[in-house]
Amino acid sequence: MDRRLWRAYLAIGAVAVGGYLLLPTGLPSDLGYLAIGASSGLAILFSVRAHRPARARAWQLMAGGELLWVLGDAVDTWYDDVQHSYPAVSAADVLYLAAYPVLAAGLILLIRNGRRDWPGLLDSAIVTAGLGLLSWVLVARPTLLDSTEAVGIRLVEVAYPAGDILLLALLIRLVSMPGARSAAFRLLAAALALVILADTGYAYATLHAVDPHRLLDVLWLASYLAWGAAALHPSSRSLAGVNLSGARAFGTLRLIALTSATLIAPGTLGVELARGTRLDGWAIVGSSIALFGLVVARMRLALAEIAKANQQKDTLQDELAYEAAHDYLTRLPNRSQAVRQIEAALFRAQRAGSMIGLLFIDLDHFKIVNDTFGHRAGDEVLREVATRMAAQVRGGDMVARLGGDEFVVLLEPIDAESSVVELGERIIRAVSAPIATGGRHVLIGASVGVAVSLDGGTNADHLLGEADAAAYRAKSNGRGRVEVFDGALRRELSDRAVLETAILTGLREDEFELHYQPVVDLEREQVLGFEALIRWNRPGFGLVYPDEFIPTAEHSQLICDLGRWVLAQATRQLSQAENRSLTVAVNISGRHLASAHVLDDVRAALTHSGLDPRRLTLELTETMIIDDPTATDHLRALRDLGVSISIDDFGTGYTSISQLRHLPVDSVKIDRSFMAAGAPNAGELVSLMVNAAHAFGLFVIAEGVEQPAQLTRLREIGCDGAQGYLLGRPLPAQAIPALAETAALR
Ligand code: C2E
Ligand code: MG
Ligand code: MG
Repeated sequence: MDRRLWRAYLAIGAVAVGGYLLLPTGLPSDLGYLAIGASSGLAILFSVRAHRPARARAWQLMAGGELLWVLGDAVDTWYDDVQHSYPAVSAADVLYLAAYPVLAAGLILLIRNGRRDWPGLLDSAIVTAGLGLLSWVLVARPTLLDSTEAVGIRLVEVAYPAGDILLLALLIRLVSMPGARSAAFRLLAAALALVILADTGYAYATLHAVDPHRLLDVLWLASYLAWGAAALHPSSRSLAGVNLSGARAFGTLRLIALTSATLIAPGTLGVELARGTRLDGWAIVGSSIALFGLVVARMRLALAEIAKANQQKDTLQDELAYEAAHDYLTRLPNRSQAVRQIEAALFRAQRAGSMIGLLFIDLDHFKIVNDTFGHRAGDEVLREVATRMAAQVRGGDMVARLGGDEFVVLLEPIDAESSVVELGERIIRAVSAPIATGGRHVLIGASVGVAVSLDGGTNADHLLGEADAAAYRAKSNGRGRVEVFDGALRRELSDRAVLETAILTGLREDEFELHYQPVVDLEREQVLGFEALIRWNRPGFGLVYPDEFIPTAEHSQLICDLGRWVLAQATRQLSQAENRSLTVAVNISGRHLASAHVLDDVRAALTHSGLDPRRLTLELTETMIIDDPTATDHLRALRDLGVSISIDDFGTGYTSISQLRHLPVDSVKIDRSFMAAGAPNAGELVSLMVNAAHAFGLFVIAEGVEQPAQLTRLREIGCDGAQGYLLGRPLPAQAIPALAETAALR
């Protein structure tokens, strides 16, 4: 109903106006005029009840103004059609003129906003002042100077253009409002423009003694209709207030309007000079001064706006730069900022010939906090740790967070290595005190590595690498301690670098090969398949075993390159074996499992070899599965490919047996340390592990079976599979057929 009402109103109104024009002048047509006018005020009042617009009072005032005009029209009609005499000034004029302030009050209420919009106000003041001068020169002044009329009449005649200027000012205010233009907004602006146009036409006609044409009546009627339609349109509900959030730029239109307005004063002067009319000097001087003042005020505001915008831009830039250099969680400098700071400190140290120290702090047991108490607790702990570390250092020293649970402290200058070590110990003590989070206390620790530059003659990455290596050693030597990067570590680092290059070359030169060790099914007494174990024919070193290069490869992406090669090689070689039921187990490193490529690598290996996914098993150690949630996700995705997952070296990690239930795995391999006869309770433990794994429906393989007695015992306790020197040593691929044959259990 809402949508159609305003249209229906406009359509009926338009027909009525047509009817009015067709009727001959006289009472019937004048009554029609009155009816159309009254319909406008009534439509507004109706809309206030039906739509409940945001500023009901504003609309009521506007309805009042419209109805005052209609009353004026009625008085006019009475004089015209009943009295047939028309006084120069009548009650009609009083009603008409009274309508202006009432309408203006309504409009002001409508567009008023809690905050003063000074730029907008000044803009409309400037345009109004210009047009005011024009109206004064063209209409008001000639009228006032017209000595043929009584002074009272002249004053009334001048009051009309004054009222129109008031409406004009508000119209300009309305259309210069930033923000969306609704239909109600447009209709209201049209209504105002029409009435101003009609009034101006009327004033001109009166001044030049032309018959006020019926065209003016059409304009007034159209204004009534537009006003009523504006109220009836549903969007009138939300038509309220100047939207100050919009941009208030000097648009082209605004600039043209302001410039034209300010040029009216000199323009008028020019026209008067050119036409030789009597100069109205004071009006021009007065309005020029007013306009000048307004323009200066407007310029001040514009400059203030520009300055404010610039300042906001600067602040934003500063904030962005700060964010880019800081860690969001602890507000400490982040890795890139830390590297920059270390670089700068090294530069200063080099020039001054002074020493600087760097501490690399790696938190101990932080992962457990995160996994047990959740990430929010983890975040709180990191913030607390950051605060505690910052409290331990001097003013000029830098504490930064590299990411995760790794921090660095930069000290410059230092007098001795010992002072850096002392600080490291203080930091460990501070971090190790209980940390309160979510109503409980958690305990963590820290392993600290120290690197010192004696003369700044190194680079930031290098120094960070040294401190990191020292922290790594602190961790391997039992955590909660400080280690200094020294000659031994330096050698270790350089050895590592040499080894990494050699591995890379080895991959390129095809120096690696796989050996296969049989895995035997104890119940069926036959070979199930093999575990693929990597070997390296390193030139000048003979056959190198994985323990000598896998740990180094695991420090970098190299392990993923190796893993990819093993996957491809193992699946290809097994697919060439005649026996189509043999399986192959490939060892996958934690880093590879966590990397985004692992799925692609496994998929590619299966596709290229054509191996049935069910014949491929991936061996992973328990720590890498438990530590990293993404690893578990990848594990599930891998299992969805159809490959089996096995937990390697079972019993040496932290997995409690009950945790097995939640992991996406198919089998476990009991670590070979449990086979050693000397191990206390080893037999008991193996039996417990076998039973527990069976309870969760897992296949159990015992590793490192070297003696017949061990095999007998495994059979007794119901272990499913076995692997070990007793059953077969790892041998090159050519031995696969023979290995499969000699399922012979000794
Ligand atoms: P793992 O996965 O537990 O592999 C079993 C290791 O035990 C192999 O050593 C194997 O030769 C050895 N072994 C087998 N039977 C017996 C036995 O009866 N007695 C004794 N004492 N040892 C036995 P290897 O080949 O030196 O591999 C060592 C470790 O290197 C592997 O342990 C595995 O963690 C890793 N590794 C081997 N190949 C790869 C590979 O391709 N990729 C990755 N990421 N790691 C690999
Ligand atoms: Mg293995
Ligand atoms: Mg193992």
